[in-house]
Amino acid sequence: MVRSILAGAAMFAILLGTATGQNAPGAEKEPSVTLRYLGTAGWEIGDGTVTILVDPYVSRINGPPPPSGGSGSTVADDTRPKVGWDNIAVSDVAAVDSRITQANFVLVTHTHYDHVLDVPQIALRKHATVIGTESTENVLRAYAVPEAQLITVRGGEDYDFGSFSVKVIPSLHSPLDHKHYFSSETAPANLKAPLTLKQMHPEGGTLAYLVRIGGHRILVFGGNNYIERELVGLQPDVALIGAAASRKEIYDYTGRLMRALGNPALVIPTHWDNFLLPYSASQQPAIDAVQQFVQEVKAASPKTTVIVPKYFEAITLSTSTK
Ligand SMILES: [Zn+2]
Repeated sequence: MVRSILAGAAMFAILLGTATGQNAPGAEKEPSVTLRYLGTAGWEIGDGTVTILVDPYVSRINGPPPPSGGSGSTVADDTRPKVGWDNIAVSDVAAVDSRITQANFVLVTHTHYDHVLDVPQIALRKHATVIGTESTENVLRAYAVPEAQLITVRGGEDYDFGSFSVKVIPSLHSPLDHKHYFSSETAPANLKAPLTLKQMHPEGGTLAYLVRIGGHRILVFGGNNYIERELVGLQPDVALIGAAASRKEIYDYTGRLMRALGNPALVIPTHWDNFLLPYSASQQPAIDAVQQFVQEVKAASPKTTVIVPKYFEAITLSTSTK
């Protein structure tokens, strides 16, 4: 299925496909950017030349739930071992190798295990450059990822990489535990692998990223909060927005966001699935719950297209100035 919508004043069409390399008739020669949802807050963004991952987490361990509650995995035939905070954080390298085919860059929003656990192995196996906070980079240093592959940021940077660029946006963590979540912890220097899950989970501050690639401006969040003033003027045409229940702790979360961003042509919810479950488990309760977010976007920004992503299914954006 291919749908075409006008991106308003941006004067280009976004062509949406659900298969790799799918293009609209007449658009074959134009560069296309593909997004692929890895589950949790994980994304693959590629243009056929460069592959950029955001918060890639494919091990999906049977780990502890976030402090907002939740009972963890409730799959009856779950054979995965339970992993506690004091257990060693083990990346499933078979999953990394099968799920992640290529990675040139990895952008990490914050140092929580559901965002960073697989990043050292991805960096080592794919020789990817990792952009993240000092906390995130210290976790990577613990696994002896070469310094040349580490770009440490704090928010405010706007870096050019030739075929694409990345603006680092200061942001906020999801307001878990009914607004009581707070952490100023940072992973210290001189950690030595293997790390426990707890050592992989000091937030270290939270960032968002604006990726400019193939004529698109793709804004990616890793959670359910933002700093409104940091978003003014970004004008993304594609926004990957945290859509978990904790967003409801925020005043007019979706409305303020749509206005600050200038009503992006395409919104895709992220970090809305139950990441404590294996990929094979049903996500139906989460799929049902995210429909409310879809309605919030529709109410705030009627011309915006919203796509609830399926795991690993390509969403292809093609640019056209015609
Ligand atoms: Zn987190």
